[in-house]
Amino acid sequence: MNETFMLTALAISRKALPECLPNPPVGCVIVGTEKIVAKGYTRSPGKYHAEADALNQIQGKAFDCLKMYVTLEPCSFYGRTPSCALAIAEDPRIDEIYVSLVDPDPRNKGKGLDILRKAGKVVHLGLCTDEVNNFLNQYLFPE
Ligand SMILES: [Zn+2]
Repeated sequence: MNETFMLTALAISRKALPECLPNPPVGCVIVGTEKIVAKGYTRSPGKYHAEADALNQIQGKAFDCLKMYVTLEPCSFYGRTPSCALAIAEDPRIDEIYVSLVDPDPRNKGKGLDILRKAGKVVHLGLCTDEVNNFLNQYLFPE
């Protein structure tokens, strides 16, 4: 089931191209009671990242124990848009986050995961890594 949700996030992430560039095309789904309640992907630069896009869709709605599946580590830094990791950390409805790949961008590189863990979220790293990497790798900054 977890794999199905991550592969759905991967499929959605393809919609981000080409408008998202130079940001990587990321996909995100939010799941409540084994059902997808929001689907997001990276919008054009300065607009929503995938996680913010998905969170926006459930804005003001009462949920708890939600799980988020995102193909790339949420950003920890404030760039053209606010940090996704902070937005997730501050959302009490999200309990668990499944992340496929660590973001190799030196501004992030594990810092996003740290923010989530410090906020008490359960973080699972490495779901569907091969499938996501095959698509996403070409759009990421080199190490
Ligand atoms: Zn972000």
